[in-house]
Amino acid sequence: MTTTTPHGEVESWTAAAACGGARRSVDPDAMFVRGAAQRDARQVCFACVVRTTCLVEALEAGMEFGVWGGLTERERRAMVRAAPIGVDWRARVAADTALAARFEEEWASATGTD
Ligand code: SF4
Repeated sequence: MTTTTPHGEVESWTAAAACGGARRSVDPDAMFVRGAAQRDARQVCFACVVRTTCLVEALEAGMEFGVWGGLTERERRAMVRAAPIGVDWRARVAADTALAARFEEEWASATGTD
């Protein structure tokens, strides 16, 4: 059995996505709102167990539109501008302590854990 995220991808990690797969909880188009609405849409990502994978895959694939990994289009563009050409996104995201702290804080706020 395969599953599909709102982003239209069929991959194993997507089965655990808060926005799709086996635990589908949002409208498939909800992650593709524009502008400021992305700040609300991304709250689904705060408690997503595949958030980092989702973000890395989006950065590697150069996904311009929609919310990925809990980051808006604007936030991902800023990451791309700050990164060297040919960057290893998996390593860069793993080494980003500010991003990790933000993910932890948002996870806690969404799950009620500290
Ligand atoms: S991080 Fe957000 S966009 Fe990515 S799979 Fe999880 S809920 Fe969906």
